[in-house]
Amino acid sequence: MSWLVIAWRIVMAERDQAQIDEQFMYRALELAAQGQQLGEVPVGAVIVCNDQVIGEGFNQPINAHDPTAHAEIVAIRSAALHLNNYRIVESTLYVTLEPCTMCVGALIHSRIKRLVYGTSEPKAGVIVSQAQLLTASYFNHRIEVTGGVLADHCQHQLSDFFRQRREAHKLNKNNLSVT
Ligand SMILES: [Zn+2]
Repeated sequence: MSWLVIAWRIVMAERDQAQIDEQFMYRALELAAQGQQLGEVPVGAVIVCNDQVIGEGFNQPINAHDPTAHAEIVAIRSAALHLNNYRIVESTLYVTLEPCTMCVGALIHSRIKRLVYGTSEPKAGVIVSQAQLLTASYFNHRIEVTGGVLADHCQHQLSDFFRQRREAHKLNKNNLSVT
């Protein structure tokens, strides 16, 4: 096989993977929207193994009365139950927002193979923003990372949510001052 054919196959495989990543990120965005309807900060997560969804979740700490109920944790718990196993090997976790410290810990413990995230989180993200935890040498498990998949969609979903919440607060404040 010529090097040209090999190079072409690599390019096509990467393009296919990029399309697959976008498809599952759209599903994560749908899940995030479900959380938003319940008044939660919209973050969604999907876990995929052999092209099959094996776990899903959206951010729900308020409604679940659970500070650990981030989208990633909810999805990891649902995938582990689905597999009937405390390890989720050979799987990819898609999440709309760069994970926080707690979720990176859970990703390591679950032995997820690959992480794909949407937009970065400048305040609390620890993949590239505030720290680069997945490159820490003390972890005994390595996770492949792809960031920035549908980043604009993921960013807009969050910024729209916070804008609407600010406007609602302002309206409430004005109503209170009138009465
Ligand atoms: Zn988190």
